Amino acid sequence: MFRAVLFDLDDTLYDSSGSSQRLRDAALDAMIAAGLGASSKEHAKRVLRTIIKKHGSNSEHHFDYLCKHFKVHDPAKVIAAGIVAYHEMKVSLHTFPDTVPTLLSLIKRGYHLGLVTNGIPVKQWDKILRLRIEEYFDVILVSDSSKTSTRKDVLIKKALSQLQVRPREAVFVGDKLDADIESANRCGLYSVRILHGSHKERQPARENQRSKAQIHTLKELLKLLA
Ligand SMILES: [Mg+2]
Repeated sequence: MFRAVLFDLDDTLYDSSGSSQRLRDAALDAMIAAGLGASSKEHAKRVLRTIIKKHGSNSEHHFDYLCKHFKVHDPAKVIAAGIVAYHEMKVSLHTFPDTVPTLLSLIKRGYHLGLVTNGIPVKQWDKILRLRIEEYFDVILVSDSSKTSTRKDVLIKKALSQLQVRPREAVFVGDKLDADIESANRCGLYSVRILHGSHKERQPARENQRSKAQIHTLKELLKLLA
């Protein structure tokens, strides 16, 4: 009998891949309008993708590198235009339509809920607060991905101990095969893979990356746990 459900954040409770794309799109439109000098938006997008690949998605200088690439003579205004558009778009961050109803149904059924996420802690909390989901969880654990490995084993074990739930009494829902599913399997939880975002086409690289169940949307969880 399951007593707790632990969730990953990005691409599990909200459309992280899609919203990153929308934020960057808005920033590029504004930067082009402010004089970036790219021949087309597609061209600017390609260059930005290369920059993100090279410097990592959490670098704070993507727009500086972009201006450098296009040899913008006076980049301050163009960079600011990108930052403003990015932040204005960020205000509209929201969960999947079925996220809150699913969490509420699970709470009603008596499950303890946990949120465990890796990343830059302030950035992860920024998202949790913007999404207004803090109140639904009995425990929220955020680890610093720059200091620890991307494995969530430590977080999962800590969350279970705080909830006073044994691994076999818990479900873990996440999108990544290595960070989520493999960690959950290793810890002995019932692993559920949500097929969403940039990782949804990936195939398990080893047996331990196979989830016990797969869902396409969060609300399928309610049937799965019925
Ligand atoms: Mg994720």
